[in-house]
Amino acid sequence: MSSVYIGRLAPSPTGLLHLGHAVTFHAAFQRAQSENGKLLLRIEDLDTQRSKSHFTEAILEDLTWLGISWQPPALYQSQRLLLYREALKWLLITGQIYPCHCSRKDLAAMMHAPHEDTDDEPVYPGTCRPALNEQQREKPFQPDINYRFRVPDGAVIHFEDKNLGHQSFTAGKDFGDFLVWRKAPNNDPNAGLPSYQLACVVDDASTNITEVVRGCDLLKSTARQILLQRALNLATPAYFHTQLLTDEHGIRLAKRHDALAIRTLRQQGLTPAQVLQTAALRMTTVTSDS
Ligand code: GLU
Repeated sequence: MSSVYIGRLAPSPTGLLHLGHAVTFHAAFQRAQSENGKLLLRIEDLDTQRSKSHFTEAILEDLTWLGISWQPPALYQSQRLLLYREALKWLLITGQIYPCHCSRKDLAAMMHAPHEDTDDEPVYPGTCRPALNEQQREKPFQPDINYRFRVPDGAVIHFEDKNLGHQSFTAGKDFGDFLVWRKAPNNDPNAGLPSYQLACVVDDASTNITEVVRGCDLLKSTARQILLQRALNLATPAYFHTQLLTDEHGIRLAKRHDALAIRTLRQQGLTPAQVLQTAALRMTTVTSDS
C-alpha cells in the first residue's frame, strides 16, 4: 500500500447532494488535506436506470461551491466494466460465489446500491446456496446470471473505525450472502453489472485508496467489503465513517429530503460554512449495534 494518503469522493449521481453528503465529503476533503494527501473523485454511475448526467453536473457544482476540490480526472464506474468482470471471474474460479436464480421480485430489495435508505437488507435465506462440495468452479462466467458471494458463516469481521472506534459484525447474522453481480433488467446477455460492493472494492484497490471516508449507513457494507478484499487478495484500506444525520423527526436524511439538498440551502442564501454548521447540529452518534 502506498504511504501517501489517497482518499476518494464517491457520489452516486442518482439525486442531489444533501446535508449528509456535505458532511461526508467535507470530512474526506479535510482528512486528505491534513495528511497532505490526494483526493480522487469517482462517479458511481452503475445504476443505469437512476444515474443521470444532470445529477453528476449538479454534484460537481455543489462540491465546488462547498470548497471541496479533488485531483482530476474523475473516474466513472460505467467505463470500468472490464475490471469488474475480471474480479468476478476470479471469485468464480476460486469457488467463492454462486449463481443465484431467485426472482427479480425476491431480490428487488437487495439489488439497489445500499446508499439509498438503509443498508439493512434482509439476510439472504440461502435458497440458491450450494453445499460446499457441490459448488461448481468449472462453469464459465455468464453476465446474464446473478451471482452471490458466499459469506463465511459465523466469521466475525473487526475493524477500527478512525471516527467511530471499534466495529464488529458477524457474517451470516448481521448480513448474509450478498450479490456481487446482477443480470441486466432487460436480460441483455452482455449487460450485467457488478454490485456496489464489488465495484467499490475493485476501484478502491485499483486506485490505491488508503482511507475510505463515507457515511455510517455503510458500516455493514464495510464488513462485506473486507470479506471481498480478502477473497480477491486485496489490501484493506483504513475506514472513517461519518455520523448519521437526522431530520427534525429523528429520521435519517435521504435524497428525498429535498428541503435539505445543498441546492435548496444555497438558494436560501446560506454560505458553505453555514451549510456545514447546519449539518453539525443534526449529527447523531451510531454504533455497530444501532
Ligand atoms: N456512492 C455511495 C453514496 O453515494 C458511496 C459509496 C462509498 O463511499 O463507498 O452513498
